[in-house]
Amino acid sequence: MTPPEAPSPVPHVVVVGGGFGGLAAVKALRRVPVRITLIDRRNFHLFQPLLYEVATATLSPADITEPLRTLVKSRGNCRVLMGEVTRVDVEEQRIILRAEQISYDYLVLATGFRNHYRGNDAWAPLAPGLKTIEDSLEIRARFLRAFEQAEWELDESRRREMLTFIVVGAGSTGMELAGALSETVRRVMNHDFRTVRPEEARIILVEMSAQVLPGLPPNLAERARKQIEDLGVEVRTEARLTELNGDGAAIDGKRFPRATVFWAAGVRGTRVAEDLGAPLDRAGRVVVDPDCTVPGRREVFVIGDLARFEQDGRVVTGVAPAAIQMARHAARCIRRDLDGKSRKPFEYFDKGMAATIGRSAAVARAGRVQVSGFPAWVVWVVLHLIYLVGFRNRVSVAVQWFTAWVLGKKGVRLIGEPWVPATDGSEEIT
Ligand SMILES: Cc1cc2nc3c(=O)[nH]c(=O)nc-3n(C[C@H](O)[C@H](O)[C@H](O)COP(=O)(O)OP(=O)(O)OC[C@H]3O[C@@H](n4cnc5c(N)ncnc54)[C@H](O)[C@@H]3O)c2cc1C
Repeated sequence: MTPPEAPSPVPHVVVVGGGFGGLAAVKALRRVPVRITLIDRRNFHLFQPLLYEVATATLSPADITEPLRTLVKSRGNCRVLMGEVTRVDVEEQRIILRAEQISYDYLVLATGFRNHYRGNDAWAPLAPGLKTIEDSLEIRARFLRAFEQAEWELDESRRREMLTFIVVGAGSTGMELAGALSETVRRVMNHDFRTVRPEEARIILVEMSAQVLPGLPPNLAERARKQIEDLGVEVRTEARLTELNGDGAAIDGKRFPRATVFWAAGVRGTRVAEDLGAPLDRAGRVVVDPDCTVPGRREVFVIGDLARFEQDGRVVTGVAPAAIQMARHAARCIRRDLDGKSRKPFEYFDKGMAATIGRSAAVARAGRVQVSGFPAWVVWVVLHLIYLVGFRNRVSVAVQWFTAWVLGKKGVRLIGEPWVPATDGSEEIT
């Protein structure tokens, strides 16, 4: 079935994915004489950089999402369809959803990454990653549930085991998550429980390479490590998660019974990339031509996290500004085609990066300038408020941050489903 639409001589651009890349493409095409169909399996845009704040009970899902229809309603040339693209047929120039198919003149593929467990797929249900709203709610529930369970436990050593949290991967996602978990324990949970004491909780950050934040210059990474250790996180570099099952986990063979594990150690390009007939790199990203198109397919752009683009011998990192710049470039190429002009190659402008480690702690780099600590944290706060989509979200997030960081209150400590403590009724709880 093809969704009904009147036949039209105007070129049809299908944009798949309403993340940073897809949304920027729709915006950049607003004055280009094309019809746009934006397709996403969700009906909302998700601001992934703040997912860890939902996972650690500072923000609600509504604070970091915005309906796609709201975001594009003033774009007269764009219709939004909710659906999951299962296949791309580049020969016939059409995308295939579950039961429908849509033809395109141009395709802009911006479906991003998914969690990847590096050959250990059985770990997926045991160690949620942090890519979707569901992931963040699952992490929040497991974190809070461990405390609820420990509150029932009278044996201190078992309580300590139950309150051991292992974050795998010390890239920016793992650092942010581990730092925020540690702060939540020390600033919020310590007021809430009678049996559990905050010092019984242990946050362990495991990284297989020699430094945290592997993409950063070593001196800046070392400062980040110091800051996160000051927050009480145990950092283990050149270490691996070697075992994970329903009873706990092991790091380089050392067992941590009853530990809760979160995954921030790997992502991979979404599956549709495999249909394009283009070379993929080890992370499943499409190796694109200088104009961000699939080799030999001028009409198929791949942008954002899903694209592997090399500039000056270095791969452009999967960050929001890169996705946005590629989207704008794709729109410029389409316009130049329609104007009968030749395309120009994409040039990425690296604005730098900022990673937060906790309240008032962060590292940031812009060109050769490096900052850490409170100034970097202010940069991080301002940047995230600027990039966050939607005025309502900006106000709401600013209020939640004030409440959490100044008043020490995290209001979203909700566990979605009811839970029965694991006791056989033989112990008397006094
Ligand atoms: C926890 C976390 C923290 C981050 N922090 C930062 C940060 O601080 N700064 C920064 O710059 N970047 C950060 N990033 C990276 C940034 O979020 C990504 O680089 C950016 O989202 C990439 O944009 P994209 O459009 O390529 O993909 P995405 O934003 O991931 O969007 C992909 C979209 O495609 C949709 N989709 C996927 N498959 C299908 C399908 N088959 N059919 C239909 N729709 C589909 C998804 O629902 C989604 O809406 C972070 C990422 C994560 C996960």
